[in-house]
Amino acid sequence: MERCPICRAQLNGGDSCRRCRATLGAAQRTLARADHLERIALLAVALGSPATAVQLLARARLIHETPLRRSLHHRLAARAVDPDGL
Ligand SMILES: [Zn+2]
Repeated sequence: MERCPICRAQLNGGDSCRRCRATLGAAQRTLARADHLERIALLAVALGSPATAVQLLARARLIHETPLRRSLHHRLAARAVDPDGL
């Protein structure tokens, strides 16, 4: 997390915002959960389970949307419909 979700101040890696003093532990754990789901999705692709990867990426996107997640999710979902479409 680069910016405080409350006041948008630049963060310095601590567990609280230097500007508004918001504690960031819960937000950091939530983002870590989305990152974890994304890594598992990539593992699912490597193991030949793209349908599982699509489900995991959908969950990760609900937690925290990123351009990479959106693109990967769309490409894998499209491949589920058209296996030669990647
Ligand atoms: Zn803040």
